[in-house]
Amino acid sequence: MAERISPWMDGVSEQAPALSGDLDVDVAVVGAGLTGLSAAIALREQGESVAVLEREIAGYGASGRNAGHLTPTIGKDLPTLAMLFGRSRAADLVRLVEAAVGHVERTIEKNAIDCAYEPVGNVIAAVHPRQFAAIDRAAKAGAEFGAEGELLEAGEMRRRGLPRGFLRGYLERRGGILHPGRYVRGLRRAALAAGAALYEQTPVLRIDDGQPAVLHTPSGKVRARRVVLGTNAFTADLNLLRSAFVRLNVYLFRTAPLSPDQRARVGWQGREGIYTAHEMLESYRLTDDNRIVGGAKTVRYGYGGKALPYDDPKTFAIIEQAFRDRFPELADLEVTDRWGGPIAFALDFLPVLGRTGKHGNIFYSLAYAGHGLPLASYAGSLLTDLMAGREGPGRALWSRRRIPLPPEPFRWLVFRALTGVFGAIDARADRAERAPSRTP
Ligand SMILES: Cc1cc2nc3c(=O)[nH]c(=O)nc-3n(C[C@H](O)[C@H](O)[C@H](O)COP(=O)(O)OP(=O)(O)OC[C@H]3O[C@@H](n4cnc5c(N)ncnc54)[C@H](O)[C@@H]3O)c2cc1C
Repeated sequence: MAERISPWMDGVSEQAPALSGDLDVDVAVVGAGLTGLSAAIALREQGESVAVLEREIAGYGASGRNAGHLTPTIGKDLPTLAMLFGRSRAADLVRLVEAAVGHVERTIEKNAIDCAYEPVGNVIAAVHPRQFAAIDRAAKAGAEFGAEGELLEAGEMRRRGLPRGFLRGYLERRGGILHPGRYVRGLRRAALAAGAALYEQTPVLRIDDGQPAVLHTPSGKVRARRVVLGTNAFTADLNLLRSAFVRLNVYLFRTAPLSPDQRARVGWQGREGIYTAHEMLESYRLTDDNRIVGGAKTVRYGYGGKALPYDDPKTFAIIEQAFRDRFPELADLEVTDRWGGPIAFALDFLPVLGRTGKHGNIFYSLAYAGHGLPLASYAGSLLTDLMAGREGPGRALWSRRRIPLPPEPFRWLVFRALTGVFGAIDARADRAERAPSRTP
């Protein structure tokens, strides 16, 4: 494939053949990202015949483009989660995402996936005292819900050697950082080893709702008793579940490897993942070859669910400026790569998991609000519970009342209102942080 997906996917060349002819299977899975591949593995463990149909190659979507922070994050943040769903359901959701983090760790180990996983945790960090209250609220809610975390006051931040631009933090001990490209390709290998049939360069053009459902591709049809949609933000292209989520783009950059001198200057001996306490967070992490990958901070919205380009100079300038503000000690560190990817959001920031179709045989899990590493990887287990009518931990997701998103132009207005408020709060913190009183 000519298009560069992200630096994580550089050098990936292995590609399964496209579908040619017709097939009958128990389950057809659309999309070979973390959701689709985890579904394929879980279904094969139950002895079902599975065909995975992927439009490009496994890892083409967010799964091969993300920042690789494995965090026990669910919903916008813990205090908002408790406010929206009450303490008991919020506690269930926290347990669910912690189980998902554990599932990823076991999957990496069981399948010997060489994805440079470092279980160093992630720190939600304040860049200005204006954000201290948010950190304290996160720590309080974490303690209340039994999350494994720790408030890091300024002294502890410095003792740990966290970069100086980050003033106070809440350390989420569960999880860490990994190489997303090697992780998703490792899941691909695990799905193949489990006996799933994989067809890459095989777009599903249409799904005929029925029993069996019929999936149409350019070079053959698949008849399946059940379908799993692992298409996340791209589900908009299939014209399905349009009121359930909004599709957005997020952007990242990668620097050159840090020299020994730059590495000494920045500290960061614990190598924790860092994301900021902004309403629209910034993320930063070290890679196994000692580069920094960072970004997020802002999102791009395509009116009517339109796909937007992954090359966006204006957004790249915003995320690189934020990086320069946070890491003044690395002014001489060059940014070498830039890319973007699609994510999906529901209005309540929770993943959208359920079943649809006249026969209730089309299952889906999507809209992880930019935090899908754990829950997309756990989707297979949750979906097989739902298929079997088991009371699994995913019940907290599929039994909730979802808030439908309005059609355009109201959807655009909702987006503008939310990002307007979030952006204004963040801009105040950023302006204060850049004020001249700050010591370099
Ligand atoms: C820039 C960025 C940074 C992120 N950082 C983090 C992070 O640090 N931590 C975290 O937890 N999460 C992060 N995320 C979110 C996380 O990557 C996603 O939630 C997760 O990868 C979603 O996986 P998925 O399999 O559901 O979707 P995707 O990985 O998007 O996979 C969908 C697949 O479906 C295929 N497809 C679509 N339509 C069709 C069709 N019609 N026919 C056949 N195939 C089709 C696509 O080609 C694609 O391969 C980030 C996302 C982005 C974009």
